[in-house]
Amino acid sequence: MGYSGFRVIKEGLFGQKGWKPVWRDPEPKAHYDAVIIGGGGHGLATAFYLAKEHGLTNIAVLEKGYIGGGNVGRNTTIVRANYFLPGNSEFYSHSLKMWEGMEQELNYNVMHSQRGLINLFHSDGQRDAFARRGNAMINQGDDAILLDRDGVRAHLPYLDFDNGRFPIYGGLYHPRGGSARHDAVAWGYARGADQRGVDIIQNCEVTGIDIEGGVVKGVQTTRGAIKAKKVGIVVAGRSGQVAAMAGMRLPIESHVLQAFVSEGLKPVIDHVVSFGMGHFYISQSDKGGLVFGGDLDFYASYAARGNLPMKEHVMDAAMTLMPMIGKAKVLRSWGGIMDMTPDGSPIIDKTATEGLFIDCGWCYGGFKAVPASGFSFAHLMATGRHHDAAAKFRLDRFRTGVGLLDEEGTGSQHNLH
Ligand SMILES: Cc1cc2nc3c(=O)[nH]c(=O)nc-3n(C[C@H](O)[C@H](O)[C@H](O)COP(=O)(O)OP(=O)(O)OC[C@H]3O[C@@H](n4cnc5c(N)ncnc54)[C@H](O)[C@@H]3O)c2cc1C
Repeated sequence: MGYSGFRVIKEGLFGQKGWKPVWRDPEPKAHYDAVIIGGGGHGLATAFYLAKEHGLTNIAVLEKGYIGGGNVGRNTTIVRANYFLPGNSEFYSHSLKMWEGMEQELNYNVMHSQRGLINLFHSDGQRDAFARRGNAMINQGDDAILLDRDGVRAHLPYLDFDNGRFPIYGGLYHPRGGSARHDAVAWGYARGADQRGVDIIQNCEVTGIDIEGGVVKGVQTTRGAIKAKKVGIVVAGRSGQVAAMAGMRLPIESHVLQAFVSEGLKPVIDHVVSFGMGHFYISQSDKGGLVFGGDLDFYASYAARGNLPMKEHVMDAAMTLMPMIGKAKVLRSWGGIMDMTPDGSPIIDKTATEGLFIDCGWCYGGFKAVPASGFSFAHLMATGRHHDAAAKFRLDRFRTGVGLLDEEGTGSQHNLH
């Protein structure tokens, strides 16, 4: 069923009786050409592009919970292409271009809003670093404008520019950056994949990976054994656990990242804003809630909930940057499990087991990567060759040390990226 303005009017006139479930609820088959473990944004996008770009339709996505219940439905929805290092830069540039065509490609409203992202700087040294990043973005073909203090004030008059400790010097403005509705992205890809014949199987946890003679044969699940010629592991914060089922030890640590939303307010923040002197960033959702977040909780954990010290840190930074936020009430907070790599960049690669592929290590930046990750991972699974946009995301860089993509320059400590 296609969606259109005409359809909305027609359903409104005839009692909303014509809408159909967005995807089927099939029983798992005994055999598939490809199985994707994990029905998050990346897994669903992979299935969609395997079907759309490579004509593979005998595919299942196996999700242990429900679609949208993982990080794809827990993130703060920032979409941007402001990366610095070759490897990351072209990948996220490619991804943002895919975002710009996503709603047409999926015939689904994901509420992608290019409202502009401003990264603030608070010292001369930070200005230099952002100027350099902006130049890298422009060289990549993306947009970046270095704003001085008055330039920032014209966009964000509500900030505390003269904070005694962290006065605002300016900001790097990325007009094509913005946000989207997170779970709609999962639903849109799920619907698109389902329409092309992909079986989306919820409440189906993978408990084992079957390997014979170095070749993958299928998976064991809570709903029985499923044979598959190819298996893709796309389970974000659970990557280490699922890879261990295939005897792999990944260079990944799982850490909690929290986010917060305030009560609904009238429109007040019409950009995405990020503080340069503490981990705090904010935007306003279409429902009016101020959506904001901070840094990792710093300890490795599989518990999708956070701790109070990080809440305090985030509120502290928020009050420093925009004291007006003190009047808003926090409605709720939550946590997600982040698959942190030692260099803060992702992995899209084959494994030593024939037919077994892995897509992980998105740290806390994987929402914006959903379309390009799905596209590149599908390309790798279907053709056996890396897509140019993701050619540097190799697993062996952590063994050889060659090709590390340490965007933050913080060294090999997972929780600092
Ligand atoms: C608070 C927060 C804020 C964030 N903010 C941003 C942001 O602003 N911008 C941005 O780009 N990124 C952001 N991220 C990161 C982003 O959400 C993740 O990098 C991305 O969603 C991970 O990929 P995914 O969507 O495929 O993960 P998920 O949605 O977690 O999908 C993985 C799925 O695998 C399933 N699974 C796990 N084990 C098994 C198993 N054994 N069998 C079957 N299924 C299994 C899980 O149930 C889950 O549904 C944020 C994350 C959090 C938590």
